[in-house]
Amino acid sequence: MMDMTKKVPVREQDPKVRAANFDEVCLGYSQEEAMQEASRCLKCRNARCMGGCPVSINIPGFIKEIENGDFEAAAGVIAQASALPAVCGRVCPQETQCEGVCVRGIKGEAVSIGKLERFVADWSREHGIVPKAPEKTNGRKVAVIGSGPSGLTCAGDLAKLGYEVTIFEALHQPGGVLIYGIPEFRLPKDTVVKTEIENVKKLGVKIETDVIVGKSVTIDQLLEEEGFDAVFIGSGAGLPMFMGIPGENANGVFSANEYLTRSNLMKAYRDDYDTPIAAGKKVAVVGGGNVAMDAARTALRLGADVHIVYRRSEAELPARAEEVHHAKEEGIIFDLLTNPVEILTNEKGWVRGMRCIRMELGEPDASGRRRPVPIEGSEFEMELDTVIMSLGTSPNPLISGTTPGLETNRKKCIVAEGDTGKTTKDGVFAGGDAVTGAATVILAMEAGRAGARGIHQYLSEKE
Ligand SMILES: Cc1cc2nc3c(=O)[nH]c(=O)nc-3n(C[C@H](O)[C@H](O)[C@H](O)COP(=O)(O)OP(=O)(O)OC[C@H]3O[C@@H](n4cnc5c(N)ncnc54)[C@H](O)[C@@H]3O)c2cc1C
Ligand code: SF4
Repeated sequence: MMDMTKKVPVREQDPKVRAANFDEVCLGYSQEEAMQEASRCLKCRNARCMGGCPVSINIPGFIKEIENGDFEAAAGVIAQASALPAVCGRVCPQETQCEGVCVRGIKGEAVSIGKLERFVADWSREHGIVPKAPEKTNGRKVAVIGSGPSGLTCAGDLAKLGYEVTIFEALHQPGGVLIYGIPEFRLPKDTVVKTEIENVKKLGVKIETDVIVGKSVTIDQLLEEEGFDAVFIGSGAGLPMFMGIPGENANGVFSANEYLTRSNLMKAYRDDYDTPIAAGKKVAVVGGGNVAMDAARTALRLGADVHIVYRRSEAELPARAEEVHHAKEEGIIFDLLTNPVEILTNEKGWVRGMRCIRMELGEPDASGRRRPVPIEGSEFEMELDTVIMSLGTSPNPLISGTTPGLETNRKKCIVAEGDTGKTTKDGVFAGGDAVTGAATVILAMEAGRAGARGIHQYLSEKE
């Protein structure tokens, strides 16, 4: 008999095999497994899981449809709140959101909500279920800057309301971090990401790539010369931060963003592409978030021994629990409570190692987490040939610098209202990482949705 306190286990590639390939790690549920897992949901009347979901998906509603075997109906329920379910089912931090508050989790393991969402999205794709464009447009034009989760969601919601939406994307491929940041082994590009982008296009959204707003065209030109009635900025936070320690300019030091972009967008990991990438033998990744785990697991797959160097303890690691678990299974070594103080170089200016210091946790800081404090006299050296810095990112100031009247805060984030995305410039709305700084896919989607609401209200009142 099924043990209702435990999740139906999900099939995964064997850690030893997957450490040497870029294929997806998690293989997802079969129909039978999904229906079994769905039967664990208590269909709570006061469904706490929904409160934990930033876009309030009707979780018991779609899980009930899975249990009944009506997967198309389940997809319909999810589509009311989310345009990117195959992505969210794979990368949302469910353990701190929906699954973190699931009632099943009180006396056992939470329902596998993320894996069920992913199952429904994959089933829909495999069965050719596509969204329908509205029959006619309302003649109003909206420009969306950036094709990450915030821009795609805003564009999709506005298209459903009848707006003519054009997304302007700086890179040669749409998708934002979903394409250039998160690796193939976690989020397959051709099957998953491109299909969800195609679904947004099927709603009538146009995507123009290779357009850098602030260089190719300005926001004022879009509004005054190109006939757009409103603009949504979803340009993300792509500017990497560094530590400012000696030796950080050495050859062999990378930002995680550059490293991952070479691998994911420019396909450097594939033998049939010419893009160069540092396939070091001894690599340290500095940081403890999802980005650090992705960089570390990419370096491992390129043949390196990899260390994660993080200044706090395991409990404070900001990455999704599943990524930390997978990284450990694959053989990544975690040097916790450790902080770099200097990158060591050889006579030719290449990285040869890193001097670090051991840390201990002191009193809580402004973030509520215990502050890491250096332990005097505990310095030691690591022998390395590559260092990847993964310390967070901030928004690129290009758009704010070319848009008079658009206010930013001291972290260079665009100032915008949370529930409408309204900025300090008339007709301009913003959301996602460009407003919050680096955050999550689902929060960016929620901000895109808020921006669409704000633009609809603004243009309806202008009529
Ligand atoms: C490696 C990595 C792993 C991550 N893992 C997770 C995870 O597991 N779970 C999770 O929830 N979140 C994760 N995140 C965070 C998440 O991906 C982001 O919070 C989210 O993508 C932000 O969405 P966005 O739409 O605001 O911006 P982005 O996804 O950054 O998209 C912004 C887009 O705007 C374009 N753009 C920028 N400037 C211009 C311009 N001037 N003109 C035109 N286009 C422009 C960019 O090229 C980009 O395509 C990860 C991030 C990274 C980098
Ligand atoms: S809280 Fe858990 S058990 Fe209750 S409805 Fe949500 S997923 Fe089902």
